[in-house]
Amino acid sequence: MGGAGLGLAAGCAVATCAIAAVMVGHRVRSRRRWGRAVALVREFEEASATSVGRLRQVVDAMAVEMHAGLASEGGSKLRMSLTFIDNLPDGSEEGTYYALDLGGTNFRVLQIQFSGKGSMILTHRVQRQPISQELMTGTREELFNFIASTLKQFVQREDDGIDQIPDVRKDLGFTFSFPVRQLSVSSGLLIKWTKGFSIKDAVGKDVAQCLNEAMLKTGLNMRVAALVNDTVGTLALGHYYDVDTVAAVIIGTGTNACYLERTDAIIKYQGLLMNSGDMVVNMEWGNFWSSHLPRTPYDISLDDESPNRNEQGFEKMISGMYLGEIVRRVLQRMAEESDIFPDAVQNLSVPFVLRTPLMAAMHEDGSPDLREVGRILEDHLKISGVSLKARRLLVRVCDIVTRRAARLAAAGIVGILKKIGRDGSAGVASGRTKGKPRRTVVAIEGGLYVGYSMFREYLNEAVAEILGEEVAPYVCLRVCEDGSGTGAAVLAAAYSSNR
Ligand code: ADP
Ligand code: MG
Repeated sequence: MGGAGLGLAAGCAVATCAIAAVMVGHRVRSRRRWGRAVALVREFEEASATSVGRLRQVVDAMAVEMHAGLASEGGSKLRMSLTFIDNLPDGSEEGTYYALDLGGTNFRVLQIQFSGKGSMILTHRVQRQPISQELMTGTREELFNFIASTLKQFVQREDDGIDQIPDVRKDLGFTFSFPVRQLSVSSGLLIKWTKGFSIKDAVGKDVAQCLNEAMLKTGLNMRVAALVNDTVGTLALGHYYDVDTVAAVIIGTGTNACYLERTDAIIKYQGLLMNSGDMVVNMEWGNFWSSHLPRTPYDISLDDESPNRNEQGFEKMISGMYLGEIVRRVLQRMAEESDIFPDAVQNLSVPFVLRTPLMAAMHEDGSPDLREVGRILEDHLKISGVSLKARRLLVRVCDIVTRRAARLAAAGIVGILKKIGRDGSAGVASGRTKGKPRRTVVAIEGGLYVGYSMFREYLNEAVAEILGEEVAPYVCLRVCEDGSGTGAAVLAAAYSSNR
């Protein structure tokens, strides 16, 4: 071999070495970046931990806050408001009643015929009606006139002989899922609008009276017999089917709970409440807060950037509005600090792009190659080329967020049971009869609980885990769909002036 040949060979060797060095360097860097992504998930998992010990602390904090909220106005982040509902339906309601549901995803009008015995519903008719942006931000008169005329058209269409005595005034259950200061079963003042509604001249007004006036104007012989929110409607419907139902929880876009309390425990209104017995208390538990809640930097930044900072802290860790957004925040950080989502930083930086149902679909992807995860990333987030192991890591993030949410909601539920002595922790005082705990039912509603089976399983499992095997068999979580519609109608029946 000549000198030139040697030189060429040496040159090639150097180049090969250089390429190899680049490749090794790349692989090392890539491994480091992968390691960074895994470390971020691990840190997040640790910060989100919900051991049963931690959950019991949340249970205690919930019960303590409930006491404080009942003791004085503003005594707790839990509003613990009166509903004046002291007579829950028991399955014996009879007749045809109407309901309106405003404040959920759809505005709905319902007509329901109750059989009079055995918790039986004979007919159930529903109409959904979108509320336009103009109505949501217009005037009080426009909104309530629209509601009344929609109801009138519905009544005229559906009243095919069911209504044998047309001149008798009909009773209506009005589910109005916005913050209200209740004045009686059938009246209450709007405290503020939420969920995109902003009708200034309605704030501070009695919304039942607004509706009654609009109905009178359209010539509808109808009256609001019960003004409630979706949680109270759910408790009423739960009780209609099963009289052991003592509490209701909504876990949908937002979250809230209510329960049956002894009136003598509602200390802040002792002067107001004459009769002894029970009354439904609306907790507004979305605003619950405790230092025992496992809060991560992602929760803090979500809260900081939200329009209602320092409010609805529990809701921001639990409800459908936020779970996808928490996942997005974790993924965004992973994209910034590793290379597992190629070129995705931009796409992941848009708040709320990852809706909770999509997150649920990725979490529940049962295919071995996580095909659905890949498809959702491509179709909805425009992120392609994500490796299988990165997709697995993403599923793990979804799991951490959902598991924490479900377990915290479970702790909240057991907190209510503890407050009313149904968690088995206080022997005889805990409602035990003949040494056995009393059967206790909690009605649950909402798209997150009903539609997301992993969430539901985690929640049910955690309730049993916190209660322990001796008490858990006596506590039943029962899905009670459409509490906000059917529940309001059955309350109208229970509080009907025609009864
Ligand atoms: P609302 O709370 O508006 O009355 P729902 O109770 O139906 O309505 O809850 C809807 C919310 O529940 C959605 O915003 C979404 O966050 C969540 N959700 C609905 N279906 C699913 C699902 N399959 N998986 C996960 N979350 C869901
Ligand atoms: Mg709802």
